Formats: sequence, C-alpha cells, structure tokens
Amino acid sequence: MRQILAFILITLTVASGISAQMKTENVVLITLDGARTQEIFGGLDSEIFRSVNKNFEKTAAYRKYNAATPIERREKLMPFFWQTLIKQHGSIAGSRELHSEVKTTNKLWFSYPGYSEILTGQAHDDVIKSNSHPQNPFPSVLDFLHRKLNAGHNAVAEISSWDAFMRIATNKPGSFVVNAAYETYPTKSTEITDLFRLQSQVLAPWPSVRHDYFTFKIALAHMKQYRTRAIHIGFDETDDYAHDRNYERVLDSLHMTDSWLRELWGFLQSDPRYSGKTSVIITTDHGRGRTIKDWSDHGEDVPEAQHIWMAFISPDSRLRGEWQNTETIYQDQIAATLCRFLNLNYSEQNPEAGKPVTRVFADK
Ligand SMILES: [Zn+2]
Repeated sequence: MRQILAFILITLTVASGISAQMKTENVVLITLDGARTQEIFGGLDSEIFRSVNKNFEKTAAYRKYNAATPIERREKLMPFFWQTLIKQHGSIAGSRELHSEVKTTNKLWFSYPGYSEILTGQAHDDVIKSNSHPQNPFPSVLDFLHRKLNAGHNAVAEISSWDAFMRIATNKPGSFVVNAAYETYPTKSTEITDLFRLQSQVLAPWPSVRHDYFTFKIALAHMKQYRTRAIHIGFDETDDYAHDRNYERVLDSLHMTDSWLRELWGFLQSDPRYSGKTSVIITTDHGRGRTIKDWSDHGEDVPEAQHIWMAFISPDSRLRGEWQNTETIYQDQIAATLCRFLNLNYSEQNPEAGKPVTRVFADK
C-alpha cells in the first residue's frame, strides 16, 4: 500500500511538472551594472589599465589586484565570489574560453532594455528603446512574485542605486517596495531611516545614482526587518566608473561588491528563515567593449556588450564551478528561473518569456 501511495505521489509530482523536493523559499537577484565578462573571469586587465594610466603599476589597485594568471587575478578581485560562492555553493555560466555563453536577447545592449529583459523575462526592443523610457508597461517577475507569494507589501522588494528602477521594476507602482537612488519609503526601521538620512548627504558623482554602499545596507536592513521573500538588489557603480574610464574604481567597485556578497551570505546563513532555503542569481544587464577604445562603452554599436554572465547559488542546484561546453543561455530566462526555484511557473504571467535554465536543475 505504501508503495502504491509513493507511486501515486511521484506520478502526481511528475505530472504537475513540479519537484516536491525544492528547498527554496526565498530568492535574491543581484545585478552588477555593466560588469564585463573579462574582469569577472579574468580579473584586472593590464592592457586597459595601462591605456588609462601610464603609471598604472604604481596604483594601489594594481598592487592589490594584479597577479600572474587570470584565475589568481579574479580571486584577488572577488575572493569571496570565486573561492567560496562558486567553489562551494554554486556555479557560473558565461566563460567563452570554456565554451559557455550567456547573451542578451535584446539587441540594444544598454541598461533599461537589459533590466527589463531580466525582470519581465522578455526583450521588447520595439517598445523599450531608451533609458528614459517611462514606467515599464510590462509586469515584472517581482509583480508576479508579489501576487503569488501573497506575503505583503514589504516581502517583495526592489532596492537599487539607479533611479530608473523606479520605472523599470514594476508596471504597478506602489504595490511592493521599490526604492532607488535618493528615494525613501515609510519604515519603522531606525537603521533604514538613518541610511536614508545619510544617503541624502553623501552624494555620488552621478545625479541619478546613489552610492552602492547605501543600496546594499538598505537592502540588508530591509531583509532583516521584513523577512523578504524576493528581492532584487541593483548595484550600479561598475558601470558609471567605466563610463568615466576610471578603471581603478571599476576594480574597487567589483572588490567592494564582493565584500557585500560575503556579508549578505553571512546573514543568509545565520538566519533560519533564509539558511538552506534561499536561491541567489547574480548577473549583469549588459557587457561592454573588449578593446582599449570601447571597454568603457556599450550599446548597439558595441556588439561585444551582448556577452554577459550568470551565477546560480542555490540549495536546489548541484552545479559547482564554471560551466563548460554548454548550450548558450539567455538573459530572458532569469525571471522564469527565479520562479522555478520557488516551484512557480512564470509562463502563467508571460507565456512569451524565456524558460527556466534547465541545466541549473539537472539531477534534482
Ligand atoms: Zn552604461
């Protein structure tokens, strides 16, 4: 009898297309704006550094991040990401050297189209053609999760450095917390209130962007206070420093973000609400050029910028390390993959969206 019941259960599970063994209850999406595959997989690029500063070997950044091999260099640049997250808890796709490709399906290769593809699961190059596009007309995966998880206004959140996320993250402003640049929101948390006060006094060089430090600290405080089930944390400085051709600060931003990943991971492990129950995707909206001329740039005239990377850290994925000899995966699959971790089917909201990255769930 017990065997028959087990058989029925397995049959039902397979028939519904949903695995009964998923551990994920929370998802975290982290983006590093315009972070190139070249630095992620290879660390400091001396040729680029030399092109912006002929005394680059004397800089603190060079002394800190340079090493003999690409693997040593990337581990100096992002030690926690490479030595702990990817080695022990997750995997990363996008190393073309290892024949793993990750690409955008949008052909515009700048931020609003990229984030909209990530968050809605579909490119709309005919509609979203500018970073100043008004409110996103398409619902996002955060809208979907807000509805499906039914966990309240604060349990789904968008916390980002760039002001455009106020428009990109939802087609229904006000339904869940969206906080970007110098905006605030009502909160009982004294920690978040203090950060709002400080962010208005510590100004970043770019008017539409607050420092990533505030984005990270607000996101972490928000998760602690509200037990967030789904959050997108959008970092920005890697892109703006690159546009400024400030390579030293591009490297420092990657390194700093790595330290925040360490802090966030420590929190996720320390809290029973999150430990062993949280899946994380880390990625970027677009790449950039590969030469000393166009590394700082991206967009339609820089096709190299379609190459991105994607990391999956999940108790529901057995993959570890770098993907090798795999099929190309796409930016429009992120929304459905986040939902798949939570046993939810994103096609319910958008049948046209990219499908979950099946390889992540192989051998489940
Ligand atoms: Zn940019």
